[in-house]
Formats: sequence, structure tokens, C-alpha cells
Amino acid sequence: MENRIAVLSREVADQIAAGEVVERPASILKELLENAIDADSTELSVNLEQGGCKSIRVSDNGQGIDAGEVGLAFQRHATSKIQSVDDIFHIITYGFRGEALPSIASVARVEMISRKRNALSGSRVVLDGGKVETIQEIGCPEGTTVSVTHIFDHVPARKKFLKSVSTEQTACMEVLVRIALSRPELRLNVTANGREVLRVPHVKKISDRLALVLGEDVAEHMIRVDAEKGNVRLDGMITRPDYSRANTRGYYFFVNGRFVRDPLISHAVMTGYRRVIPEKRYPILVFFIDLPPEDVDVNVHPAKTEVRFRNPRDIYDCVVEAVVSGLGAGSATEGIWKHAGEITADPSYRQRVEEALKRYTLVTGAKRPVYHSSAGPKPVSSFTGLWDGSGLRDLHEKTEDGSLLPGIRFSDLDYLGQVGAAYLVFSGGDKMVVIDQHAAHERILFEKIRAAAQKRADFRQALLVPEVLSLSPSEYEQFLSAQDILAEAGIDIEPFGDNTVLLKSIPALLTNLSPKQFLQDLVTETLAGGKILSTTALKEKLFIMMACKGAVKANHTLTDDEVKSLCAEMDTTPFNATCPHGRPAYLVYNLSDLQKLFKRT
Ligand code: ADP
Ligand code: MG
Repeated sequence: MENRIAVLSREVADQIAAGEVVERPASILKELLENAIDADSTELSVNLEQGGCKSIRVSDNGQGIDAGEVGLAFQRHATSKIQSVDDIFHIITYGFRGEALPSIASVARVEMISRKRNALSGSRVVLDGGKVETIQEIGCPEGTTVSVTHIFDHVPARKKFLKSVSTEQTACMEVLVRIALSRPELRLNVTANGREVLRVPHVKKISDRLALVLGEDVAEHMIRVDAEKGNVRLDGMITRPDYSRANTRGYYFFVNGRFVRDPLISHAVMTGYRRVIPEKRYPILVFFIDLPPEDVDVNVHPAKTEVRFRNPRDIYDCVVEAVVSGLGAGSATEGIWKHAGEITADPSYRQRVEEALKRYTLVTGAKRPVYHSSAGPKPVSSFTGLWDGSGLRDLHEKTEDGSLLPGIRFSDLDYLGQVGAAYLVFSGGDKMVVIDQHAAHERILFEKIRAAAQKRADFRQALLVPEVLSLSPSEYEQFLSAQDILAEAGIDIEPFGDNTVLLKSIPALLTNLSPKQFLQDLVTETLAGGKILSTTALKEKLFIMMACKGAVKANHTLTDDEVKSLCAEMDTTPFNATCPHGRPAYLVYNLSDLQKLFKRT
């Protein structure tokens, strides 16, 4: 049969779209609660039957909906919260897509009763499977009550995916806990199957709510933390290292009041807790992260627990600092770190952050959203560590292969001279930068080799006269078994009989070396030792070794031109903070560091 192209009926399209918003009862509950809060409610009552699978009812004392608009609320893309695309960059409400109500209505039966504040009467609308059944005027209290029943009755495929009642109930409670934690002004009263399961009074501070919501035991083990970086402010509570869990379910991150899951924040948390919490154990955290709305894009995922930050590094640093200084202040860990600076100044920290940023902010391949910097305070970097200051480029520019570029633009620095024929000294505004020429060059070569091998670029240089090398029988075996990997790295060898091999080409990057010496080193440093390495491990080792052999040595005077080209190369080399062995490739001294060294502070 021939398949013809046809536009989907509205019902089918709605049900498909609904799948993104309405996955399970808890997601319906979440949307209803958020609508109530967006309507400035201060009091919510929630009723759940069978974990929300049978019915969900949310009543609020918010603004209500005008009688003329109750039907409209259920139309797709009908929202009172934004008018133009620009508005989504300044979102302060939870909703803005105008998708929740129509989505819910397309997969369930919905009754909404609402009276606008100060209106004389209210209205009632009933929809089933997306179609309006009734709209009528009725008397009712101010505010809005939405009841959802017959969930997924029209979508058996979805109904099948519902978990047990207790699992769905747990998911619903999780949604309520997030709301309770993030909205101190809200009174919340929840019954499940007619029994009261949660009642939170209005409180001034969230900390007054922790025991109620997370349990007294958790609350007793928590310490307050805060930090500030750039335009980012973090306030929150974290558990001391003597209290941990086997999973990350105790992570409550709220960005501008919105609950988010963010792997970057989680990564930063673990960086902060490194060395103080046992492996595979996780803290419980409540973070309120606030930043100008235009610095965060919440429009990434319909369920909106994913966000994208304009300055992810500020977020990262802020979280690490909050955790580290919080833990440092708590008596349980006193003496581990004096201050966050100790950890953030560690070169391996930089690399960790860069890898995390690369992994969690760029992998989507999506273009960075365009932000409108005209509105709101302009972000100013106030980070006093290694990356701030003038002449530094945007940290999230990418090289061609998508890796992160470093924070410092070396070509913009003023070269002052070489020390000990090994270290290059630069001045850059109010900072002094010292490059270890060997380590830096090693990293440059390493990244080049790695990139070339990845692209399978041919970077071999044939030797005019092949070298002959005799080996021990075991070396010979290893050499031959690594033949393919070596070839990938530009090293062509051929068996020549009698435990000798013929070297026919070497990588073009290494032509300044004696081929024979290089090959001998290769045997002793990479292949020997009898350990059989995995292909990747062997490759890595080989690349590191090649980079090391090819790099300029210490005790080597560089001309100004050589320094210039080294700087230019550094500017396009990812992970240039360290050499491939992990040692720092350069050090940065801020003015404040110098002042400290000169005991001026
Ligand atoms: P969104 O929240 O993205 O605007 P929804 O489909 O969730 O879209 O809701 C559509 C509109 O219905 C909202 O913009 C709001 O005007 C109105 N609305 C929904 N729930 C309530 C409520 N509890 N109180 C007042 N107005 C509401
Ligand atoms: Mg909504």
C-alpha cells in the first residue's frame, strides 16, 4: 500500500505533543501547581487518589480566570504569561508555553472551576479527551480548582507505562517537596486517598521548613552555605560529610525558583565534596541559585527541568565555593581546606572544570541561544581566580572539533623574557603569566597528534632511507601486534625477519628527532614492560610519548618568533592548562597574588 502524506488530526497531534509534558500523574500535578503559583496563590490544597493515577485535584486561592477566558486556557499556545519571543528571556513565571492545560485535557478528563478575584460569579468548564463538554457560569469561591480524572484513558499505550500506585505516589510527593522547599510563602495541604500526608504552614525562612519536608535527621546534619560569582548568587543548605546517601535523589537545585536537574551543578557538587565524602555516597543539598533571567535559558526542555546557562563557569565556581567554604566552616571537616581558593587554584581543578563544561554544556550540539543583554544588569565577571580579567576571551568558544578553548589569550600578553632557558614570563594587564615551555609545547603537540589521528589525517613523513632496528623476540612481538596503532600515529614499520623491523615513516611533527632514537625510546617507554595495554591506553601512551619527545626541552633558548608562535598555538589548544602528564603548563599570578607574596595584604 502506498503511504500518503497527511496532516495529523488535532487530537492525534495534541496527544503526541502531550507526551512531552504529561508523562505521568506527577507531571500533571507539577503543571497544575505551577499554574496555581503563577497565579499568585498563597494557599494550595491537593488531593490525590491512587498516587494520582485515579484523580488529581489542585485548589488555589489565586487570581482566577475570567469567565470569558476559561475555554481559551485549554487552547494550545494560549498563555497569559508571555506575548513575544523576547519575553522568554525574562521569564519569571513557571509557565509560558501555553501547553500544559491543553496537553492534560487531551489525555484525561478535566474539570476547571474558577472565579476571578472580585468577579461576581465563576465558571466551570469540563473537557474530555480534549473536547469541551460543558462551559457554564456557577457560584464558587475565588481562585481555581482543577480536577483531572480518567488519566490516559484515551491513550492506552501511556497507561501501560504507569508504574505501581506507590511509585506514582512517590513521584507526586517529590513534586510537592520541591514546591514546598522553594516557596516559603506558600501554605500547602496535601491529602492522599483522604488522608493528610503533608501540611506545611507559611514560613519566613526555608530553613524552618527543612525538617518538615526532608525529615529532622537530615535537617540536623545540614549547614548553611552561600557564595557569589559574577551575577550568580547561591544560597542553600548542604549536609555535612557525616551524612550521605547512596544516590543523588537528595539534590534540590532551584534556579530562579525553578527546580532543575543539571549535570554541571552535580559535577561541581562532587568537586566540592571530593576527598571528604566516601566514594559512591552523595550529600543532600538544597541550592537556591539566582541570576538575571536573561542569563539562563529555561526553554530547553518542555518539562523544564533542564536549563542552559550563559556563564556556566560562574555557576560551577559558585557551587564549588559554596560547598567548600561551607564544609570548611563546619567543625567536622575543619582543617581540610582553609578556603575555596586552595581547591580552585589547583591546576587539576581547572582541567576538571573544563572537562565538565565541555561535557555538560556543549554536547547537545545545539547553538547557544541568543541572549538579550540590553535588559537587566550586565554580567560582570568577578571571579578572582585564574580566569577573570581583561583580554580573556569567552570561555565557551569552541575549536573546530568542539573542545573548549582556554581562558587566557596568550597572544595578547606582553612577552618579558625567558628564565632559566625554560620558563617564559609575560605580563597581561594586572597579571603575570609564566609558561613552562616544555609542558606547553607538549600539550600543543599532544592535541595535534590526537586530532590528526582522530581525523585519520595522514601526517606521516616517509624516511628517505628506512631505518633498521633489531629487537628482542618479545619486543618484536609487541611491535608487530601494535603495528596498526603505530600506523595510525604515522609510524610505519615492517617486519624484516630475524627480530628486526624496518621503520619507513615517522610522524611529520617529529622530524627533528633521530628516527632510530625515537624508535628505541618507543620500545623502552611504551611497548616494553610486558604489560598488555588496551588499544586506547596504548594510543594515549604513544601520543604522550610522541608529544614529549617532540616538544622543546628546557635548557633551550627560544627566539621571540618561536615564543610568538608558541603563544598562538596555545590559543587554539584545548586543555592547555596542563601538559598531558597533568603538570601545569602555565601559572597565573594576579595582582592580589603578588601583593600577598609581598605581604601587602
Ligand atoms: P502556561 O502556564 O504555559 O501559560 P497553561 O496551559 O498551563 O499554560 O495555562 C494556560 C493559561 O491558563 C495560563 O497562562 C493562565 O492564564 C491560565 N491558568 C491556568 N491555571 C490557572 C490557575 N490555577 N489560576 C489562574 N490562571 C490559570
Ligand atoms: Mg502552566
